[in-house]
Amino acid sequence: MRKKINIQLIGIALLSMLLTMVLLLFVYYGIFQKQVLDELKTVAHMMGSMENLTVYSVKDYQTKLDNIRITLLDTDGSVLYDSDANAAEMDNHALRPEISVAYSNGEAYAIRESDTLSQNTYYYAILLDNGGVLRVAKEANSILSIFASSLPSLLIIIISLTTVCTVVARLFTKSLMKPIDNIAKDLDHMGEVKTYDELKPFIETIQSQHEDIIKNAKLRQEFTANVSHELKTPLTVISGYSELIENGMTGAEDTIRFSKEIHRNSTRLLTLINDILRLSELDSGEQNTPMEDIDLYELSDNCISMLQMNAEKNNVILDLKGPHLTVFANRQMLEEMIYNLCDNGIRYNKPNGKVEVSIRENNENVIFMVSDTGIGISKENINRIFERFYRVDKSRSKQTGGTGLGLAIVKHIAEQMNAQIQIDSELEKGTTITILFPKKVPS
Ligand code: ADP
Repeated sequence: MRKKINIQLIGIALLSMLLTMVLLLFVYYGIFQKQVLDELKTVAHMMGSMENLTVYSVKDYQTKLDNIRITLLDTDGSVLYDSDANAAEMDNHALRPEISVAYSNGEAYAIRESDTLSQNTYYYAILLDNGGVLRVAKEANSILSIFASSLPSLLIIIISLTTVCTVVARLFTKSLMKPIDNIAKDLDHMGEVKTYDELKPFIETIQSQHEDIIKNAKLRQEFTANVSHELKTPLTVISGYSELIENGMTGAEDTIRFSKEIHRNSTRLLTLINDILRLSELDSGEQNTPMEDIDLYELSDNCISMLQMNAEKNNVILDLKGPHLTVFANRQMLEEMIYNLCDNGIRYNKPNGKVEVSIRENNENVIFMVSDTGIGISKENINRIFERFYRVDKSRSKQTGGTGLGLAIVKHIAEQMNAQIQIDSELEKGTTITILFPKKVPS
């Protein structure tokens, strides 16, 4: 780009130089022509004003003038005298443009090419009192010869101006590119670089993209560290207990207890890995998500049936109310979402508690709500529970088979379904999570 700007700047400078020179050449040539003609006019009038201008007086005057050819013509155009040729051998001049016009209008001029291309002949003719015509003529350089003679100096000017332009263009491009160079050198502080207003939207976009990249890299790093940590605990337990059994150091009772632990922890590992895989699948956005109209009530009823046993085990009543409303969503995702929310409602509940799932609608949304009478979430924690692996009470989460990824998956799914999540909670009273599905625009 730098090179391109440089070349373009030099190109523009060269072109304007050439245009100016050609224009100046024509302007000066016009002035030069006028000067030559003015000189001839003055000479013609001075001679014409002499009384009784005769061949002899013309000859006499001729000696005082350099390079000026004088022709004296009779009333009919025949040549009486010519300073450069023998008048007797010359043909009638009445039809020469400057002479015929001088006969009719009193005076006239003409410029004609000489035998050599480099010279032009300038003529000025005036009508004399006696009816004859006096013509004065002079040879002068043509535009071509003026151009040719000034060519060396023109070339020197062009070369030196081009050199100056190249240096100036380079400096100019450098200063033009400086903000961009500075940004490229330090992407972290690009917001502080002084730049042009035109570049600001571009810089803002790059800046926010750069920040996103850094944030994502950090999140990924954190996630990997968390995953390793989460996997390590059950694996350590499994490895420890299995080693004890392997060494034959356990009695029959302990073996059963240890095997149970191994089983519990491997189930936990499986759940964890399933959730991690599900999240990365959602992250990549590669899975195909066929969307369809789904009866939200029916799907909720299915989930509740699946969770019924769990609820009973925890002494929690599961309830569903509301009309059969339809949402446009992916069935598997919607099911996962409802399941996770109801499961949390049961797991973070109190004995004899209740989880109520309700469905309703307003003008813009189909509203899905899971409300529990559980332990609630404090204000400090409420904004963080959708983060991956974030748990308020780690041991309770683990005990109840939680991975800390359930709500992260819910959040992801809601985003994909264009749904909004609202959360309301009070410690010891309970939690309500509301999902607002957009109503399908009738097509
Ligand atoms: P987990 O697998 O630990 O349940 P989630 O992502 O589903 O992970 O939830 C994150 C955390 O949010 C939980 O560990 C819990 O502390 C809190 N939480 C989620 N749902 C509820 C709820 N209904 N009542 C109280 N706390 C909740």
